[in-house]
Amino acid sequence: MKPLVLLVEDEAALVTLLRYNLEREGFRLVDARDGEEALVLAKEERPDLVLLDWMLPLMSGLEVCRQLRRAPETRDVPIIMLTARGEEADKVRGLDSGADDYITKPFSPAELVARMRAVLRRAQPALANETLQFDDLEMDLAAHRVRRGLRDVHLGPTEFRLLRYLMQHPGRVFSREQLLDAVWGRDVYVEPRTVDVHIRRLRKALNNDDESDLIRTVRSAGYALDRGQAA
Ligand code: CA
Repeated sequence: MKPLVLLVEDEAALVTLLRYNLEREGFRLVDARDGEEALVLAKEERPDLVLLDWMLPLMSGLEVCRQLRRAPETRDVPIIMLTARGEEADKVRGLDSGADDYITKPFSPAELVARMRAVLRRAQPALANETLQFDDLEMDLAAHRVRRGLRDVHLGPTEFRLLRYLMQHPGRVFSREQLLDAVWGRDVYVEPRTVDVHIRRLRKALNNDDESDLIRTVRSAGYALDRGQAA
């Protein structure tokens, strides 16, 4: 199911641009041109994410944000504020009013999409009783256990999160920066080379001598979970 995004923005050109880019990235979009309409649509459509412009007619984005947080139906929806203001104080006010993240105009669609994915990931409900599978790998998220075939695989916490992320997106190639962002978090400063160290540990834990390597190294691009690599 494609995530549904409510875009609250009064600038028609930006709505058109974002609609084109977000739909291409696999999101569905509904849009509102002012705060009143946004509050109605949020309750009706139950979006997975709200992109909320700060400067809106009738009611400010900040006030819309507060009201979304107050209503039981929309209390937990992730909100990213879009704004032309760059001042630190405004950022703090935005986050205080309940926004999850904040992006300053002008921004690139790619940057926005990366922020949206990060916010959606954090908002994912607890994955109790869920199992991820790939090839002969199985990850029990509730029990925090990994098996390859019949064998238990013991992983450190970082390797576990790294593998979980790769298993959630099998076959996709991620750069070191994307993996850092997804596994370590945006706000942590870690050298991209650190990813290589943890990938090495993960490989060592996953692959016995007679087993195929499930992690593919893509030269100058990054890593993917993939089938059929020679041991
Ligand atoms: Ca505006």
